[in-house]
Formats: sequence, C-alpha cells, structure tokens
Amino acid sequence: MTSVSRIAGVAAAPEPGRFRERVRAWLAEYARKVEAKEQRRGRRFDREAEMEALARARVLQASLFDAGLAGLTWSREYGGQGLPSEYLRIFAEEARGYELGTNFFNIAFGMVGPTIAQLGSEDQKSTYLPRMLRGQDTWCQLFSEPGAGSDVASLQTRAVRDGDEWVIDGQKVWTSGAHRADFGALLARTDPDAPKHQGLTMFILDMRINGVTVKPLRQITGEAQFNEVFFDGARIPIDSVIGEVNGGWNAAVTMLMNERVAIGAAGGGNDVTAGSFSNVLALAERMGTTKDPVVRQRLARVYTLARVLGFVRQRTQDAVKAGRTPGPEGSIAKLLSAEVLQAAADAGTSIAGVSAQAWASDDPEGDAWARGAMSPFIITIGGGTNEIQRNIIGERVLGLPKEPQVDRDMPFRELKVGTQR
Ligand SMILES: Cc1cc2nc3c(=O)[nH]c(=O)nc-3n(C[C@H](O)[C@H](O)[C@H](O)COP(=O)(O)OP(=O)(O)OC[C@H]3O[C@@H](n4cnc5c(N)ncnc54)[C@H](O)[C@@H]3O)c2cc1C
Repeated sequence: MTSVSRIAGVAAAPEPGRFRERVRAWLAEYARKVEAKEQRRGRRFDREAEMEALARARVLQASLFDAGLAGLTWSREYGGQGLPSEYLRIFAEEARGYELGTNFFNIAFGMVGPTIAQLGSEDQKSTYLPRMLRGQDTWCQLFSEPGAGSDVASLQTRAVRDGDEWVIDGQKVWTSGAHRADFGALLARTDPDAPKHQGLTMFILDMRINGVTVKPLRQITGEAQFNEVFFDGARIPIDSVIGEVNGGWNAAVTMLMNERVAIGAAGGGNDVTAGSFSNVLALAERMGTTKDPVVRQRLARVYTLARVLGFVRQRTQDAVKAGRTPGPEGSIAKLLSAEVLQAAADAGTSIAGVSAQAWASDDPEGDAWARGAMSPFIITIGGGTNEIQRNIIGERVLGLPKEPQVDRDMPFRELKVGTQR
C-alpha cells in the first residue's frame, strides 16, 4: 500500500492504481454500501435520524482523515493531502453508492474551507481547516436575509466594534444546516456610510454562543433543512474577521464562486445528476414504457443534459487543477445542474403518472417521485437563482452590457432596501 509522503514539502503522489486500491480497501472496511433500491427511495430526515446520521458521518470522516484520505486536494500544511484533482475523481468513482455522510460537511469543504484557505489568517487556517477535515466541525453560511437574497449586498445585519469584540444584531434566513452547525461564516454590515458593497465584513461565528437563536423553516417536502437565525447582541472576538474589515464583498464573491463550483461542478459523492438519468431509466423499465417514443425523448433529454454537464464539470475541474480561481464557469455548471435535475423530475413525474401523486402507505418507495418533483427547486434558488446565473453568464462569459446599478455608489444608509424605507 502506497501512502502519501508526510515529509514536509514533499508531495509524493501515490500511483493512481494503488491509490484506488487503498480507497477501495477503506470503503470495504468502514463504509456502508447503499442498495440501488434505497438510493432510488432517497431519505427523509426527521431531526433525530439526522443527528444520528451526522454522528456517524463525523466518525467516518475522522477515519478517512486518519487513513490519509481526507482533503485530497487541500494543502498538506493544514491536514490535506496536496494531491491533484485527478485523485478526487478516483475517490468519487469508488465511493459512488456508499454512505459517507459527506453532505454534512459540504459547506465546510466546498465553500468556507476554500475561502478561509484563500483569505483567512494563518491562525484561522491552522485552527479551522484541520478540524473541518477531521469532521469535528460543521459549518453554515449566513448571508441571505429577508430583504437581501439575490442582492445580498443590501443586507442589514450589523456588526459594531466594542473594544476587543464585535457585537452582532440582525436576522438571517434560509440558512442551510444552521440547526446542526458548530460555526457559521457570517456576512454583516460594518460601515453603513459606505456604498453597499464596500461596508461589509465576513466573520467566523461560533453558533453556540449567547445571542444566537436558530429557528427551523419547514419545507414543502416536510423536512426542515434550513432556518432563520436571529442575532441579539451576540459577541465575537476581533480576530474573527475573514480577510479585511469592510472587505467582505470580496470574501463573499470568493465563497459564492466556490459554492457554485461545489454545487454544479464538483460531482463526487453528491453526484445527483449521474443518479438522475439511471433513476429515471430504472423507473421507465419498471413501468414498461421504454419503447414509448415520448418517454424515450424525455430520457434522451435528461441523458444529453447530464452528459453536457459532465463535460462542463471536467472543464471546471481542469481550470481548478491548473490553479485558476473558479470563475463564471461555476455558474454554467450550477445552472446546468438545475436543468438536469428539473428535466429528470419532470420526466420521472410524467413516467410515474398517477403513482407520483398517490401511493400505498406501505410502499417505502411510494413518495420518491413526489419528493423528486418538489426537490429540484432547491438547486434553482440556493447558491444564486437560475436568473442570477444567467446574468453572470451574460455579463462575464458573453460580454453583454451590465445591468444598470444606480445605487452602486450611494451610502448604504440612504438606500431604500430591507426595512430602510
Ligand atoms: C435550498 C436553499 C438553501 C439555501 N441555503 C442558504 C444558506 O445556507 N445561506 C444563505 O445565506 N442563503 C441560503 N439560501 C438563500 C438563497 O441564496 C436565496 O434564496 C437566493 O439567493 C434568492 O434570494 P431570495 O430568496 O431573496 O429571492 P429574490 O432575490 O427576492 O428573488 C426573487 C426572484 O427575482 C429574481 N431576480 C432577483 N434579482 C434579479 C435580477 N437582478 N435579474 C433577474 N432576476 C432577478 C430571482 O431570480 C427570483 O426568481 C438558500 C436557498 C435555498 C432555496
């Protein structure tokens, strides 16, 4: 068995075939294979089951870390393996179909971790990054507010300096996983006299401190995966700032770029789109409709979109591999992921017919398509809506004129946004 050299500064990448064997051996020993039927059914979490699954995920992540298989492309200095992204692909291929629970760490691995790695202080990097990789901490992203979603720079949550601390007051909404997060990346206004993009700062916030209240929001599927978060005089230390004070917009853009790549282009264990086609095909086979020309057309559309997405993902991964910061291509991949999921949900609902609307109460797979039809909305909104991705692609890929922004240079205090009327 080849192990990655741990001698400082020497990144001896293991031979890919040996690495694959190592991953396979770890999975066989520690991880649970999820049967195809169970994968199709998906999982509906109640709070207790969710916390149990998180506890299992933490144990597995710690084991991955100990085996030298966590943070494959992250810097070795902060607990990663310093390997090229090719190894991520190998890991994802082998791990497909296993329950690893890495989705609990998606915000840490895909968004906050890369942002701290790019903009954080040395102390923040050495404190938080290894803890993420060991599965010790889960994170949430505290950006959106009732009056600031697509236009997140209009947010009103305030951070005011008081001696050695920042005092936080305000409200966030749609905060995924806040109910189980140890830490949050908080975007707050630190200078209301500056134009809206210039008076923001990003902070690391311990979610368990006084003055932070998390309230769940119930979704159409019956689950409660996101929340409202209220801040009432919550106090955090001055060294909680990620990057520069009033430089939060840069940090937010960095995190959103990473998020779009994570949602749209990462593939790996969260590869919903690869599963989309095989699930719809399996449904058509079960219903005996694979010869129906309309069904075939729908299947072909899902397949084609999923294949195109695969190529876009590859291009994005190659860009990241070449050391480039994720750019607008992350928006293309994210938009396309949403299209694939929606096409698959539409196809599945029409193939399943009435059984997508009504099912026997003792059929464990019964509500899978109804839930499948309701879930794709998530990805068309979270991480920036489809319309916002199209704006980014229009402006930054196609070079179309920018939307007019009359409020760009005005002091935030004078804007009619949120509750400022
Ligand atoms: C599943 C899920 C998870 C989420 N998780 C988080 C999280 O963890 N943390 C967090 O901070 N936020 C989270 N969000 C919030 C998400 O980022 C926002 O919902 C999103 O940015 C849209 O903001 P909004 O809901 O305020 O809608 P609005 O911005 O009010 O948009 C309403 C409609 O107007 C359209 N629109 C707005 N501006 C433009 C424009 N300039 N051009 C064209 N159309 C436009 C939008 O596309 C949309 O259709 C999550 C959302 C979802 C659905």
